[in-house]
Parts: sequence; C-alpha cells; structure tokens
Amino acid sequence: MSSYPRIVLRRGKEQSLQRLHPWVFSGAVAQLPDNIEEGDIVSVYSSDGKLIGVGDYQVGSITVRILEWGDAVIDGQFFATRLKEAYRVRRALGLIRHDNNAFRLVHGEGDFLPGLVVDIYGDTAVLQAHSPGMHFFRDTIAQSLVDLNDAGIKNVYYKSETTLPYKAHLDPQNEYIIGDYSTNIAMENGLKFHVDWLKGQKTGFFVDQRDNRSLLESYSRGRKVLNMFCYTGGFSVYALRGGAELVHSVDSSAKAVTLTEANVKLNFPDDTRHRAFAEDAFKYIGSIDNDAYDLIILDPPAFAKHRSALKNALIGYRKLNAKAFERIAPGGILFTFSCSQAVSREQFRLAVFSAAAQSRRRVRILHQLTQPADHPVNIYHPEGEYLKGLILYVE
Ligand code: SAH
Repeated sequence: MSSYPRIVLRRGKEQSLQRLHPWVFSGAVAQLPDNIEEGDIVSVYSSDGKLIGVGDYQVGSITVRILEWGDAVIDGQFFATRLKEAYRVRRALGLIRHDNNAFRLVHGEGDFLPGLVVDIYGDTAVLQAHSPGMHFFRDTIAQSLVDLNDAGIKNVYYKSETTLPYKAHLDPQNEYIIGDYSTNIAMENGLKFHVDWLKGQKTGFFVDQRDNRSLLESYSRGRKVLNMFCYTGGFSVYALRGGAELVHSVDSSAKAVTLTEANVKLNFPDDTRHRAFAEDAFKYIGSIDNDAYDLIILDPPAFAKHRSALKNALIGYRKLNAKAFERIAPGGILFTFSCSQAVSREQFRLAVFSAAAQSRRRVRILHQLTQPADHPVNIYHPEGEYLKGLILYVE
C-alpha cells in the first residue's frame, strides 16, 4: 500500500471519479493534508474512507489529476509503462515510418497522463508540462523517453515556461534535459519541415493538422489557394504537392512568413507558385478581389482560450468566415477550423452557418473534421476534444 498524503472528498463528490473522469475539483475536497505542496502525489479518498485513486495535487480549480485508479506507486516504472503503451498506439496508427517522424506521443488525459504533452520530431522529443506534478517528474519522464525501445529518441527538450501556472513559482527553464540540439527538420507524410521548438509556438509545429493537410492536398489540383494563419506553412506545402495553380500564405507574424517560405523552399526549391504575406488576416481577406481564390483555409489561433471569451470568439469566427463566403470564387472550397476547446462543435458550426447565411450562397458541408488519432480523446474525459473543422463547397 502506498503511503501518500490523503485528500478526503466531501460526501457525494466522488461520482464523476467513479465514472473515471480524472479531475478532482477544489469544491469536491473536504480536507487537505497538512503541509501539502503543489505537485505532491496524493491518495484520494471518498468521504466514507474508500481509496479512489492516486494523482498529483495543484492549487486551483482542478485540485488533483488522477494518474491511476486504486492504489499505485508513481515512479519511473509507472511512466515507462504509460509511455510504452502510448508509443505502441502510434505505431499501430502507422505514424512511425521512414517518411514520417513528426507526431504527438503523449496527449495528456487522452493518453492517461493528465498534464503532459510530448511531441516527437525525429530524434528529439519536446516535453511540455501543464501541471506541477509533471514538472517534478520531468527528469524521470525524459529518461523513460530515451529508454523507449526502437523509438530512437536522443534529445529531450523541456518547454514549459508558458504552460505551468505562474502562481506555483516553479520558475521552469526551457532547456535540454537530455542531449542537445540536433537537426530540426522533421518529416510529415514525406514532406520536410523546419521545426523551431526553441522559439516557435507551442512545441514548434502543429502536428494536429496532419490528416486535414492530407485532405487539402487531395483537393488542391488546379486551384488557387489562400492559406490564412499559415504559421509554418503546413497547408501551403501540401497544396503545392497537390498540384495547386498558386498558393498564397498569410500570417500577421513576420517570423511565421519567413518560416513558411523556408519550408516551401525545403520541399520545392525552384517553385514560383508560392508567395507569402505578413499581414493581418482580416485586413488581407477584406482587400482581395472576389474570385481571386477558389480554395481558402482558415486556421486561426484559439479565439477563446477560456470560457469567459466564448461570446467574442463566436463573433470572431462568424466575421472571419463571413469574409471568406463573400470572397471565395464560385465552386470554391473552404477549409475552416476552430482549435478553441471552449467552443463546442455545435457552436462552431452555428457560427459558420450564420456567416454562410449572411452571404446567401449555396453551401454544402463535405466533411466534418477533428483532431487526428495521435491526439486521442479519453472516453471518460470529453473535454479532450478541441479541434473542429468543416470543409464546405460554396456555389
Ligand atoms: N495553420 C497553421 C497553424 C496556425 S497557428 C498550421 O497548420 O500549422 C495560428 C497562426 O495565426 C499563428 O502563426 C499566428 O501568428 C497567426 N495569427 C494570429 N492572429 C492573426 C491575425 N490577426 N492575422 C493573421 N495571422 C494571425
């Protein structure tokens, strides 16, 4: 029996945990142990003294993230086993190939490691902690990653300066825990990308759009493509391979535009079909000629990072999409996304519907998109679903 400090719940507050939802909210806690510190491993008990599970403690609305039901020891063996299973899933998904070495190995709750994200780019793993508990286990996790048989991970870069609660005063440093800088060129479906985990957003690349980029490739032949919010130019490079007539990429960040140009050059060195513009997306789309593009991608950053921003976010999605419906050429195809967790699939669809209705054009939904299988959703934790997309045919 492990001997972690005990957290006791208020009566009746164990119900969501009995349904295997892994979060203990602060309102459910009757009693905290003395001298408890953020990141401590704790045992969670129901009001009638039954052990529910073991997890890590944090100050805030989510007080404990359950790591294992019943009794357990959280140590190197625990992480090694969970990571091995996560790797086995990625192998089963066919993501580990000579022409594909960029994928998400750990997607938090979806891989039964709440608070942890691990993205793989070739022989480098980028590790991101979202909870103090994962922060304290970072060295153990890094070692388990390097020890994963066949995975070939040599370097582990820790990047949690912006993801850990600042009030915890953990002062995390972005740094290599194991190894050092190696090539930053990763392969996705045979295409090469510079991945800047040191300075780029999140872990350096958005692997979550892989499947949707492939679908875009299949629609690109002969089309005039506008890739809004291009970041690393993922969609642009796929569109070029798919035989687009021209591809224009737009991002308000000059760095993103440079990165997009570098990635286009890496794959299509002498291609003159591509141009990139550092400009505000709303401004750009407002200024283009009608009919200039017949394939438009809208993949903006999360407009609602929190529930409080939901109303404005929905207005933002409506306005952005309305401009696309206004401008896209007849017979055009619109790929439109929301990566805001706080926006539900229905709410997003309603925002796009309102935008379409404003234009009064005939619009068909061709595909309803979501996150790829290396961003799995824990069936007991529906909050893990965040990426939503629609592919629309606009007459
Ligand atoms: N589509 C990308 C990911 C987009 S991330 C991919 O497949 O990888 C969101 C991007 O939107 C960021 O690069 C950010 O710089 C850019 N961005 C944010 N606000 C913007 C705005 N108002 N206009 C144009 N780009 C914007």
